[in-house]
Amino acid sequence: MPVAPRLRSGVELPLYLSPRIAPTLRSALNESALLTQLSDALGSPLGVILPQQLADNVAAFRAVFSDHRLGGQVYYAHKANRSSALVRELAATDAGIDVASLAELQHALGAGFVPQRIMATGPKNQEFLWLAARTGVTVSADSVGELVELATLVTEWALPPVRVMTRLSGFISSGVQLSSRRSRFGVSAFAVSQVLDVIEKHSDALDLVGVAFHLDSIGLPEKTVALEGCLAALDECRRRGLRPWSVDIGGGFGVNYLADGAQWEQYTSALTEAVLGKRAPLTWNGHGYGLRAEAGHIRGSLNLYPAHRPVSGPAYLDRLLRATAPEQRRPLGTLLLDNMYDLHVEPGRALLDQCGVVLASVLEVRDEANGDTVVRLDCNARDVSLEEHGVLMDPVVVHRTAPAKPGPAGVYLFGNLCLEADLITRRKVFLPSRPRPGDLLAFVNTAGYLMDFSATQALRQPVGRKVAMYHDDGAWRWCLDEQYWPVHRRAETA
Ligand SMILES: *Cc1c(COP(=O)(O)O)cnc(C)c1O
Repeated sequence: MPVAPRLRSGVELPLYLSPRIAPTLRSALNESALLTQLSDALGSPLGVILPQQLADNVAAFRAVFSDHRLGGQVYYAHKANRSSALVRELAATDAGIDVASLAELQHALGAGFVPQRIMATGPKNQEFLWLAARTGVTVSADSVGELVELATLVTEWALPPVRVMTRLSGFISSGVQLSSRRSRFGVSAFAVSQVLDVIEKHSDALDLVGVAFHLDSIGLPEKTVALEGCLAALDECRRRGLRPWSVDIGGGFGVNYLADGAQWEQYTSALTEAVLGKRAPLTWNGHGYGLRAEAGHIRGSLNLYPAHRPVSGPAYLDRLLRATAPEQRRPLGTLLLDNMYDLHVEPGRALLDQCGVVLASVLEVRDEANGDTVVRLDCNARDVSLEEHGVLMDPVVVHRTAPAKPGPAGVYLFGNLCLEADLITRRKVFLPSRPRPGDLLAFVNTAGYLMDFSATQALRQPVGRKVAMYHDDGAWRWCLDEQYWPVHRRAETA
C-alpha cells in the first residue's frame, strides 16, 4: 500500500493551494466577528459581495485601453453573477453591461444603465429582442435568422433603427494551428457576405456598428486569429459601402486564483503520482481530474482550470493587443488604432476578480475509520461550484474561537445534499488548522460563476442569500444585496 510522504511526527505533508487575496478582500475577511454574525443571522451559504472592488477592476481594464490609445467600452458580462449590488455599483462607473436574457436587460435598465451602455448578447427570445429594440440597446446578433427577426420586429412596431453587431465564429488562418472546438454561436466568418446582404436589405431597420466574437477559451493563438478575422470582415463591410467602426472581442480574460505558482506545480505533480499509485490518493475515490494510469503510464490530460495564471484579466488583454496579427504581421492593437476602430470587451470572470466570497458553516467534523477526516458543510456543490468549473483553491477557515487543535488538517468537504456526488471538491483539502462545528469556511474569489450560476433549490434548500459589504467612513458596513445602492456611501464623495 503506497503511503504519502510524512513528517517525522507522522503528519501528512500538507499540499496547500492558497488563494490569491487582494487587500480589500483580506480586510473584509479579517472581520471575523461580523462574518460570523452575518452567517448566524442570514444562514448558510451566504454570498458576500464587495461591489467597490468591481469599480477598481473596471479601471484596470480602462488603463490597458489608454496604454494602447484605444477607444471603446468595457461591458461587464452580467451572467457571471446575479447580484444587484454589482450591477448598481457598475452603473455608477462609466462601464457598460452585457445582458444575455430578458431579465438581465430589465435588471440593467432598473439599475440605471442607459440603453447606449447596454449590449444584448446570447440566445434571444422575441420578448428580449423587442425590449432591446424598444429601448435602443445594441443587439449582438448570433445568426442571420436573428437579424431578420429583429428587422421584422422593428418594421412591424415602427421602431427606430437598432444598432447591431454581428457575432462571427469558425475563424481559420493559414499557418496557425488551432485547437478550437466548433461553436454553436455566431455566423461562420466565411459567410459574412450573407449577413451584409440582410443588413443592406433591411437598412431602414438595422444599423451595423461592428463585428464580434466570444471564444470560450483562454488560448491566445485562437484569439489573435479571431481578431484579425474580424478586421478582415470590417474590410469587406467597407468595400460594400457600410461603415461599422467597432470590434467586440467578448470575454475570457481569466483570473489568477492562486497565490503561489510553486504550490500549483507541486500539487499537480503529486496528483500525477497519486494517479499512478506512487502515493496515497489525494482525491475522493481516486478521481483523476482527467488523468488515468494505464500499465504504469499516465494517460489523458488534466481537465482543470489553470488556477495559477499570472497573465490574466487586464494583463491578458494587453498581451493580446501586443500580439502580432498572423497574416498582416503587425500588432493587433496597432491595426485597431490605425483603422480608428473602437475596441469592446465583455469580461465576466475577470471583472469579478476579488469581488466576493461564499461563507459556509461547518456542521460536523468527523474522523473516519480509514484515517480520513470529513468536514460536512451547510451548502452544496452548486452553491460553491468550484468542482464544476475545475477550479482548485483552498477555502479560508474563519474560526469562531481560537482553534482547539492548531496544525494542518487534510479533509474532504461534504455538501448538504443526499447525493453521493455532493462534495464541494473531490480533492482532499489541506487546512492550516482543523475547523470545528460552527466555524465558517470562506470560499474566496467566487463572485465570477462560482457563487450562484448553478445554485438551485434541490431538496427545497434555499439558494444562499447575498449581502453587500462596503467600506465607508473608515469602517466596513453591510446590507442585503438587493438593498445596496452606491449612494449609501456618502462619506467618500462628501
Ligand atoms: C459568457 C460570455 C462572456 C463572459 O465570459 P468570461 O469568460 O466570463 O469573461 C462574454 N461574452 C459573451 C457573449 C458570453 O457569452
